[in-house]
Amino acid sequence: MKIIEKKCPNCGANLDFKVGERDTACGSCRRKFAIEYNHDEDLNELKQSALNNLSAKDFDLTADRRRAKIIMLFIAVIVIIGCTVAVINFVRTRQDEQNRKSEYEQSVEEMNQKAKERAEEMKKEYDEQVEKFENEQKERIEEMKSQQ
Ligand SMILES: [Zn+2]
Repeated sequence: MKIIEKKCPNCGANLDFKVGERDTACGSCRRKFAIEYNHDEDLNELKQSALNNLSAKDFDLTADRRRAKIIMLFIAVIVIIGCTVAVINFVRTRQDEQNRKSEYEQSVEEMNQKAKERAEEMKKEYDEQVEKFENEQKERIEEMKSQQ
């Protein structure tokens, strides 16, 4: 008996058997059959199903690869964004520090300048007072001389 379509010749139900099995029983009518193989056709069918399985696996693999690439790209983008943010923060913090430092230096310089100016003013006032005092003394001496 030749089973090509793998259908029960008795009731027409699909026959379930593994390639290589010598006999099988119909699941529907319980009739037993010896299995004869038409090697060329079976081989072709086997090849075809193997090819189908293979291309299905290939497709799965391609989809997996695509998914992996997308995930890798996503991770790479996140890492790049993270690094960029870190660098920007670092640069900004350093700039802030430098700004604060230069502000501090500037205020120190201003204070020094003011202190210097004040010291010069005080020296001038002191010199003026000394000069005034000396003049007064001279005038008094002159007066005393003229009275003698
Ligand atoms: Zn049957």
